[in-house]
Amino acid sequence: MAIRQYAVIGLGRFGISVAQRLHEAGQEVLGIDINEERVEEAESFVTHAVIADTTEEDALKSVGISNFDRVIVAIGNDMQSSILTVLLLKELGVKKVIAKALDKHHGKVLEKVGADWVIYPEKDMGERVANQLLSPNMLNY
Ligand code: ATP
Repeated sequence: MAIRQYAVIGLGRFGISVAQRLHEAGQEVLGIDINEERVEEAESFVTHAVIADTTEEDALKSVGISNFDRVIVAIGNDMQSSILTVLLLKELGVKKVIAKALDKHHGKVLEKVGADWVIYPEKDMGERVANQLLSPNMLNY
């Protein structure tokens, strides 16, 4: 498998689980969060972890964000920060930006500002569980 450079912005449950899985698979993962405690907790699950406010263009530039192949924006509740972060990432030339949305309105704005892939964690997981329950080997579960 090719080794890529990923950055995960927002180290809550969703961001950490994406970051940890990528790191376990041997990928280079930079974890970024505005919250120092979250960054400290994440240190053992990623290649590097830094404290930064990703709504600040200079903070993104100082971590060399344009060099990352894929950036995952896992900020959810603070919609304004999530949207502004995606906008700046695309302006700075990040090729693939994957962003978590809380609902379809949030998702629509993320697409408008350039997100390449929008994820709806609860909705996507709900559909996955339903599909598993409907699969032939689970019908008697
Ligand atoms: P999860 O549902 O994944 O557990 P959460 O409930 O902690 O997430 P969110 O609001 O989605 O809540 O935030 C995810 C992470 O994003 C938090 O750790 C938060 O500190 C971080 N975050 C929020 N704003 C910024 C920002 N401007 N720059 C960097 N990180 C941020």
